[in-house]
Amino acid sequence: MTGKSTRKPRIVVAGAGIAGSLITSGLARRRDIELICLERVGATGHLDAGTGLNVGPNAMKCLTMFMPEWASAIYANSLPWESWQISLTNGEVLMDLALAEVAEMPGIRIRWAELYQLLRAPIRSHIRYGAALTRCDAEPGGRLTATYTDESSGQSAEIGDIDLMVSAEGRYSPSRDLMFGEEAPTFLGVCLYRLLFPVGPDCPIGDYGQWFNGPNRLLAYRVPGDFVYCAGSFPIPSDSAIPDHMKTPEALASAYTPANGQLSREAAFLVEAVCANVDSIHWARLQEGGQRFAQPGKPILLVGDAAHPMVPTLGQGATQAIEDACVAVEEINRALDRGDSLTGIAARVEARRVERVRFVVEFSRQATDTMLAGADPVAGTRQKTQEPFMRKLRSLYQDVPVPAATVAEHA
Ligand SMILES: Cc1cc2nc3c(=O)[nH]c(=O)nc-3n(C[C@H](O)[C@H](O)[C@H](O)COP(=O)(O)OP(=O)(O)OC[C@H]3O[C@@H](n4cnc5c(N)ncnc54)[C@H](O)[C@@H]3O)c2cc1C
Repeated sequence: MTGKSTRKPRIVVAGAGIAGSLITSGLARRRDIELICLERVGATGHLDAGTGLNVGPNAMKCLTMFMPEWASAIYANSLPWESWQISLTNGEVLMDLALAEVAEMPGIRIRWAELYQLLRAPIRSHIRYGAALTRCDAEPGGRLTATYTDESSGQSAEIGDIDLMVSAEGRYSPSRDLMFGEEAPTFLGVCLYRLLFPVGPDCPIGDYGQWFNGPNRLLAYRVPGDFVYCAGSFPIPSDSAIPDHMKTPEALASAYTPANGQLSREAAFLVEAVCANVDSIHWARLQEGGQRFAQPGKPILLVGDAAHPMVPTLGQGATQAIEDACVAVEEINRALDRGDSLTGIAARVEARRVERVRFVVEFSRQATDTMLAGADPVAGTRQKTQEPFMRKLRSLYQDVPVPAATVAEHA
């Protein structure tokens, strides 16, 4: 970008998910750029996304500092995440943590679809729905051309002269594959399935809880709208698909029922719901990939799952996408205000994020220990109540990125 040019820098955000929507909204008020957000699904495409999210206190702390209006809006539209209880399915409580002991503010619980709707509402005019990015190529002058498929016509379309591309298409990011080549994910040997179902006044599920029978785990919490989100898991061989025989009500009930057959009220409620709704379950395998934010000299920045696909064990996928977005918005706004080139953005965001993200990815993997084949959830959870784990949890929830202005003030 040159200061003398009258041409507005063109910024394309690929993916109106969590990171992409926040970044688009953080730039949307600028009159000195052309801003386009490409979203693969149609305008109502994610309304039935059957998943709940618990977003960590660290995302809320970060938003409170960088984008306070979003922190208020998200708190107002969600339930607070204030405690984390781990029990056995027979009712024995192994850990009962008030998040206030390790975090400065609550996290949140929300339906994925509701969070998407909330984040997308103010940026409606910037989003091209039904536009699936397929390619992103360098032009001779260093700018980029994005190619996307317009789902309504089935035709391919191009946007050229892109000064900055923000790649926020999530875990299966085509721009990540194009830039770095396709990488096979690492599977951890755990099936993780999820289910969202409506509940009545007799529902015993409230804030974030986990129930183990050996390494087989149920995780559940209430989300707004009288729904419960439940994510069940059990070990599988890391090199094979989820066995079909495990996808039956009988096998699932047996995975969570202790030897004496006695389930706690909460576990019994969840097992019954899982078995009754087995046809609505979304099945997946725990997986992660490498971390990639930038390629030297290219005006393309990867954020969220596109940059660092991680296991969801600590509820940090969306949470880290939010931390990324806060830093990216600040760096892009700062470069635009100063008239700096946008080519250096990706490297600057990477420098501020890479160490933190590495810590979170590794900690999330480490915390998966009690879900692996042969794990002892009693001993493993006891360790999670000890100081080394608690220290890491405090760091996870409190040591968030800080606005550059704040750093400069204290320098
Ligand atoms: C079972 C499960 C449970 C989880 N639980 C939690 C949790 O409790 N807490 C938490 O913090 N995280 C959780 N996560 C992770 C979390 O959902 C993701 O980390 C988070 O959504 C990533 O945000 P993102 O903005 O990078 O991508 P996404 O939110 O995935 O958004 C990507 C967007 O890009 C769009 N898109 C995709 N391809 C294209 C394309 N080619 N062109 C244009 N647009 C495209 C998609 O439609 C989508 O809108 C969980 C994940 C799973 C699988």
